[in-house]
Amino acid sequence: MGNKKARRGAIFFDRDGTLNVDKDYLYKVEEFEWLEDAPQAIRWANEQGVLVIVVTNQSGVARGYFVEDDVRRLHEWMNEDLTRFGAHIDAFYYCPHLPSGSVAAYAKECDCRKPKPGLIEQACADFDIDRGESLLIGDKSRDVECAEAAGVRGILYTGGSLLELLKRTLGQKHNTGEAKA
Ligand SMILES: [Mg+2]
Ligand SMILES: [Zn+2]
Repeated sequence: MGNKKARRGAIFFDRDGTLNVDKDYLYKVEEFEWLEDAPQAIRWANEQGVLVIVVTNQSGVARGYFVEDDVRRLHEWMNEDLTRFGAHIDAFYYCPHLPSGSVAAYAKECDCRKPKPGLIEQACADFDIDRGESLLIGDKSRDVECAEAAGVRGILYTGGSLLELLKRTLGQKHNTGEAKA
């Protein structure tokens, strides 16, 4: 984990249903609830020296339920709250679109609504991410499809300890040998 190493792996997390309890169209801080040991899983990922990046569909923007500032505010709050656990999320990427949305500016086909890979592609453009050393964890098949479309390993989260799932998954990877230095 030398700090001069340019390329880094990333752990991409879906948000709703993976890091926090999925409440339809969540945007209020008061309604946010971390799932089980999600903050500990994020901290563990931080300790491994990988980037931690959230990729989330937020069609509530296109539906007119909330605005982009609400999404950003919630994400800022998540990082503030994570300081209690000594953890942090390096970046958040969200898709505000939905073709059938009621807010004209967001009612369109886009490249970023999962299962499309646009959010991961954008993150890879912004950070020097080694896709072969990266992983996405999400609770929907569209999360896994999104990862695979971007050339990243996708893991379905079906409940329980996110920390254990992460440790188990990365442990397997290291046992099978690293593709490149
Ligand atoms: Mg989800
Ligand atoms: Zn989009």
